[in-house]
Amino acid sequence: MVHGELILMGPPGSGKGTQARRLASRPGWLHLSTGDLFRENLRNGTSLGKLAEQHMSKGEYVPDDITVEMVRERMRQVAPSVHVVFDGFPRTVPQAEALDALLAEHGRRVARVILIDVQREELVARLAKRAEGRSDDSPAVARKRFDVYQEQTRPVIEHYDRQGLVCRIDGIGTIDDVQERIAAAVS
Ligand code: ADP
Repeated sequence: MVHGELILMGPPGSGKGTQARRLASRPGWLHLSTGDLFRENLRNGTSLGKLAEQHMSKGEYVPDDITVEMVRERMRQVAPSVHVVFDGFPRTVPQAEALDALLAEHGRRVARVILIDVQREELVARLAKRAEGRSDDSPAVARKRFDVYQEQTRPVIEHYDRQGLVCRIDGIGTIDDVQERIAAAVS
């Protein structure tokens, strides 16, 4: 297994949440999903949750300063021996730069960025199927989330490509197929 933190990236509906959870189920790993943290805040009725919901319900990103502060707070509670699988973070270049600095403060570094590749039409179809579970999965909001992903997140991939950290994984196939490809990429 690689030494350092992992980042799982991929468009909405690519299965990155499922894969990140599986990857982090190994002992000594922690799954850190900013989407999950926002939803948890919303369920608990915190002011952060209410603020985040205003953006999430439209398929837009939550502002960087709010998102980074939440991750910074969460990282304070992570034991030094535990490694993190980041899911849905960083999503913008300022978030990536903030993460690089934050990890350095903790004596950590990004070991690998796993990018799950899936075509747009397959994604919209998948999201339509899970639309009952999540209010931001309706086709219109899902398309918006995909467009925002393309526009904002591509430069983040370039940021990590320049450091030679990105590993591209074919996201078509069963959950187990994709999991195997990822396991091979981080072994
Ligand atoms: P998905 O990747 O399927 O869109 P997530 O659960 O990762 O799902 O994110 C859901 C929503 O939460 C996003 O559309 C966005 O509004 C918000 N969000 C999650 N992570 C971030 C982030 N790093 N920066 C800004 N907003 C975020």
